[in-house]
Amino acid sequence: MVTGTPAAVPSEKKLNILNFYFINGVTLLVIGFFVYMYQTGISWETTASTHGTNWWSVILACVWMVCASLSITGGYHRLFSHSAYKASWPVRLFYLAFGASSFQNSAIKWSIDHRRHHAKVDTDKDPYNINRGFWWAHIGWVFYLDPKGSDISEAKDLMEDPLVMFQHNYYFRFGAVIAYVIPTLLGLLWGDPLGAFILCGSTRLIFQYHFTFAINSYTHMFGRQPYSLANSARDSFAAAVLTMGEGYHNFHHRFQTDYRNGIRWYHYDPTKWFVWTLSKLGMTSNLRITAKEKIERAKAAVRAQKEVASQTLAMKGAQAKQVFAEKSAQAKQALAEKSASAQALAHDMSVSAQALAHDVSDRAQALAHDVSVSAHALADEVREKSEEALGPKPHANPN
Ligand SMILES: [Zn+2]
Ligand SMILES: [Zn+2]
Repeated sequence: MVTGTPAAVPSEKKLNILNFYFINGVTLLVIGFFVYMYQTGISWETTASTHGTNWWSVILACVWMVCASLSITGGYHRLFSHSAYKASWPVRLFYLAFGASSFQNSAIKWSIDHRRHHAKVDTDKDPYNINRGFWWAHIGWVFYLDPKGSDISEAKDLMEDPLVMFQHNYYFRFGAVIAYVIPTLLGLLWGDPLGAFILCGSTRLIFQYHFTFAINSYTHMFGRQPYSLANSARDSFAAAVLTMGEGYHNFHHRFQTDYRNGIRWYHYDPTKWFVWTLSKLGMTSNLRITAKEKIERAKAAVRAQKEVASQTLAMKGAQAKQVFAEKSAQAKQALAEKSASAQALAHDMSVSAQALAHDVSDRAQALAHDVSVSAHALADEVREKSEEALGPKPHANPN
């Protein structure tokens, strides 16, 4: 269940220097080698040192890719983590050898992390919690130290298997031999030890990393949820193609002990076909399958939950529409009322302005009249005063 958005990197985490430099260093080496191959080309020549990479090295890398991928999906995941079937010791040894070459930890440590992922999916206790974001779930978590360190005591069932414990104790050396030493020696057969070393060891490893990690990131974000809505896991055909069938992750989270991830015959699940073929050869047994009725019940429950969710959504949509319509009508009415009062106010102001103008005009006229009258009176008074001051006018000489 998605619960908020925690920090992309937990504050208590410390950088795993070894993993950080190893993965980034190998990635740079692989990019550099691609440039080298582009410039020198690939040939079938067995005197290869002057002719670039040999096609046999490319083919060997593809074989290593298939073996290592099956060891993670069929071995680390479905056998060791989930006990979805039993396997004879040669099969377990094959898984442990190529699993070590995948440099994703020893089988027992990988299984502990993965069991935690299932038990605490989408929470802070999930090592690759998708709620910390795509980057953290994909590869970010690998760059940080596990606070539980090298403690493997919680996987007591796996501790009973001496092959598992041997791989755990010699994991890194075991991985180096399978990933690098054997391919380099085989590369000598066709004169391209460097190409075999890098293509089988590093190039294969980087591609395998990102394909495997896509299950923790991509299939917890994108795809369908036909079997359970209880967590973020999803079914994705594209992811299944990249990961030997592990992309049916919604089914897997719901029925994790089923040895299949893709349950239909047409579901692309090479791991399932591999384990089934080995069972026909007597090398695997007790393949666990979920009862059809149980699967159908899970699908029906999801359909019912989706139906309820869509009805609730439709109901909320209708309610929201109604509230919106009501609010719009109220707003429209309020607007109309305000418009009417604004018009009335404008009319009142116009009338007042006219009255004021009229009043001002009248007063101005009255004032002008008063001023004129006063001016005339003043003029008369001045004239009289001046006449008085000048005295009586002299009489005209009668002579
Ligand atoms: Zn998952
Ligand atoms: Zn699983």
